[in-house]
Amino acid sequence: MAKKGELSKTARASLAQRDDTNFMTSRVCEKCGEPIMLKELQPVKVFGQGMQYFHKDHFKVS
Ligand SMILES: [Zn+2]
Repeated sequence: MAKKGELSKTARASLAQRDDTNFMTSRVCEKCGEPIMLKELQPVKVFGQGMQYFHKDHFKVS
């Protein structure tokens, strides 16, 4: 019984954590045009243009 309670507590904690770091932002990737999850968001300040946003992977490639 104690084990079962522990398990659900862990599951709830990891769910809350995932919610926090993995939600979809309103930002769109400059490279691929797809919306960016918060944990993939790479903001880049471009002089004269303000901020641009990339997926972390896509920014590295470019
Ligand atoms: Zn992208």
